[in-house]
Amino acid sequence: MSKFSSLEQSLKHFFGYDSFRPGQRQIVQAALGQQDLLIIMPTGGGKSLCFQLPALLQPGLAIVVSPLIALMQDQVEALLDNGIGATFLNSTLSNAEMRSRERDILNGQIKLLYLAPERLLAERFLPFLGMIQQQIGISAFAIDEAHCVSEWGHDFRPEYRQMRLLRELYPDIPLMALTATATERVRQDIIQQLELRQPYIHIASFNRPNLYYEVRPKTQQSYAELFGLISQTSGAVIVYCLSRSQVEELALRLQGDGIKALPYHAGLEDSERATNQTRFIRDDIQVIVATIAFGMGINKPDVRFVIHYNLPRNLEAYYQESGRAGRDGEPARCSLFFSYSDLKKVEWMLDQKENEKERRIAYQQLRQVIDYAEGTDCRRTIQLGYFGESFPGNCDCCDNCRHPQPTEDWTIEAMKFLSCVARSQERFGMVHIIDILRGSRNKKVLQNGHDKLSTYGIGKDKTVEEWKMLARSLLHQGFLNQTTDGYSILKLNQLSWEVMRRKSSVQIAVPKKQAIASHKKTAAAGEMLFQRLRVLRKKLADAHGVPPYTIFSDPSLMQMAQQQPQTLAEFARLDGVNRHKAKQYGLSFLSEIKAYCQQQSSVSLSQGGNNSRLYLTNTLSLTLELYQQGHSPEEIAEKRNLKSTTIMGHLAELIEMQQPRRCRQDSLPQTSTTHITSNSTGGDFFPQNYLRTSPRML
Ligand code: ADP
Ligand code: ZN
Repeated sequence: MSKFSSLEQSLKHFFGYDSFRPGQRQIVQAALGQQDLLIIMPTGGGKSLCFQLPALLQPGLAIVVSPLIALMQDQVEALLDNGIGATFLNSTLSNAEMRSRERDILNGQIKLLYLAPERLLAERFLPFLGMIQQQIGISAFAIDEAHCVSEWGHDFRPEYRQMRLLRELYPDIPLMALTATATERVRQDIIQQLELRQPYIHIASFNRPNLYYEVRPKTQQSYAELFGLISQTSGAVIVYCLSRSQVEELALRLQGDGIKALPYHAGLEDSERATNQTRFIRDDIQVIVATIAFGMGINKPDVRFVIHYNLPRNLEAYYQESGRAGRDGEPARCSLFFSYSDLKKVEWMLDQKENEKERRIAYQQLRQVIDYAEGTDCRRTIQLGYFGESFPGNCDCCDNCRHPQPTEDWTIEAMKFLSCVARSQERFGMVHIIDILRGSRNKKVLQNGHDKLSTYGIGKDKTVEEWKMLARSLLHQGFLNQTTDGYSILKLNQLSWEVMRRKSSVQIAVPKKQAIASHKKTAAAGEMLFQRLRVLRKKLADAHGVPPYTIFSDPSLMQMAQQQPQTLAEFARLDGVNRHKAKQYGLSFLSEIKAYCQQQSSVSLSQGGNNSRLYLTNTLSLTLELYQQGHSPEEIAEKRNLKSTTIMGHLAELIEMQQPRRCRQDSLPQTSTTHITSNSTGGDFFPQNYLRTSPRML
């Protein structure tokens, strides 16, 4: 510790980051205080740093237990690239390699040792562990993906259960458990199974603000839409499909259309699957089309787009799978294509389940997915609500918030609905309540005598769909609860009574049915320099045989492109660059940046220097100028006596050209430049937003 005057300084020294993410600092402090820890953070939240930094600041070696070889290799590569002593021991190594690594460990050259649980507790390994403790000292055990100890989680691994042996053998060494699992049940299980002692618990919000969520109707045109979306994405894309044959088919079709795509599913030969994965991770291909077999163990932080071309199994799975986008914190997009014919397929599959209870629960989970897809509330409110987290809505980064439906006051309807739930004694689900309201004469209604209720038939003025929409929104907004035993019985809560007593009003977003907006090819994210730096990064990565993101992350490249450092000292100050990396890669990146700046300035000089819109035709310049004066496309159209669609076309073209963009002012002759800047949340990624059009997707 003594070497650094603050934790921030050590963070910059080892990892090159300027500041901690929320929670990290407190966690590191607790770890340095020898406390047990339970860290719950969504994927991409920055869990690794929570055990890596304390390991580097303490004497001895930290042992990291990780269930997957790919995950270990990834983290070790990233650490080595930061000049940090880290290694793993697993079955892929030769005996000689194994012994050489063991020597390094006992020589004290290693601060972080990664192991699979079965190796850690293997009979043969325990004596070596003892030697480490004696000669070097073990600073902590970090158990990554700790939900694997729980049968209640989605990924139970019996080997994880034996980890409690660590407590017996080394009672004084702190244990840290880390996971991205959201449910309370699993959290409790982790504490019990690993016998954590009064752990410092950190539960991060599961909100991922940089992800844009949207749902699109799946139609005949969906392939074209998918293709359009992919070709306008600069960066890696994952497309999830339901079956192997769909994966194969879609991958082929994309290849045929000139997109670098490869399939991934459990039916491929091991070697082919591994190759496809590596090629994706190293950015040799842009798109991986996969079944859900793909993902666990993929640490790629710069996935820009995750598409579910079919329905996910449940909302937790959707959250985890879509959450593979944007782990580096940069804007990324998650689209779900929803169709009733897919739904029928899934229902058919569920009907094949023998076990009644399993089937019932699976049906309920599916219904929650439908509620999400058809919901008109903020997608985040719905998702986070599912994990028991309340989110106020208006995130401005989902389709429902970006293109809000007009809201209507449905308090009266809500009162009708809720009192119908009350009068039927909170013993029924949505469909039955709607039957009563609409005066159905079906058997269930008559048998229960519900045709005698005062609420019978008072809702004939609304369609079944409208009532469903209301019921969903009541659930999402917390005006109503639903049991999770598979029966989805509606239950009233305090807010329900407030509505019935007219103390709260209920606003519902009511969708207008609209055709799917066609997708104009819009500008890809990122600037020219950023793209050049990516190319350079790829070259260096190939030369070193590592994934590009271990060299620098996308956010670091973006900073480079924006700040355009001219000296090594400036370069080393960038977020994500430490001394080691500056030394290793600084000159290559600096010379690329300089070359770019020189080219830019020679272009501007040769064009007369003083012209502010070098690359634009007159008509585009005029539109741009008016736009920047704050006129709407309609007003510009009127002033210029053109159609507003023409003006929209101009704006789209301007975005596409990323015009006008220039090098940093101080390194160039001064010219007056004009900028189109996009707003913060969606970044360049969703330019239709600042075109002020609102293509409504649902
Ligand atoms: P998790 O294990 O929680 O899924 P990681 O530990 O892999 O997440 O971190 C996700 C990404 O965030 C990585 O690219 C990592 O380098 C980056 N990161 C972590 N902490 C910071 C920080 N304090 N500042 C900037 N980037 C960070
Ligand atoms: Zn939203």
